[in-house]
Amino acid sequence: RERTLAMIKPDGLSGNYSQKIKEVILQSGFDIVQEAVVRLDAERASVFYAEHSERSFFESLVKYMTSGPVLAMVLERPDAISHWRTLIGPTDARKAKTSHPNSIRAMCGLDSEKNCVHGSDSPQSAAREISFFFGDVKSV
Ligand code: ATP
Repeated sequence: RERTLAMIKPDGLSGNYSQKIKEVILQSGFDIVQEAVVRLDAERASVFYAEHSERSFFESLVKYMTSGPVLAMVLERPDAISHWRTLIGPTDARKAKTSHPNSIRAMCGLDSEKNCVHGSDSPQSAAREISFFFGDVKSV
């Protein structure tokens, strides 16, 4: 079994998609190991997305991520990282709506920024992101 960090971003929470997303999570064989509603300030959001700090969209991304609370969750199942990435669909929610109509971003996302959910992209980022929200975890 493997763990990943899933996050429902501010647009997902304000659009009341949490319940629907959690149903998909549980139906897909994940256990929700930990969860927390968190309000990120600009500094914390900048740390979370530090790898994008030089990108043109960074300022807008930080504004988006601090526009309201997020729901962070640790999900666990075999192959959790890639399975969750597949379920959420492509980064650009407009593409998701055409090419991955059953994906979570097709359901609740808007465009390449406001895409309603996040998922860790590697074991290293999962470990970093889980400790970002929940503190240090023992290796799994
Ligand atoms: P996440 O890391 O949130 O799961 P991702 O791995 O699919 O998303 P990244 O390329 O890591 O996508 O980008 C991180 C986030 O930055 C995206 O989820 C999106 O909110 C925002 N973003 C990415 N590309 C753009 C863009 N071209 N314009 C505006 N925002 C963007």
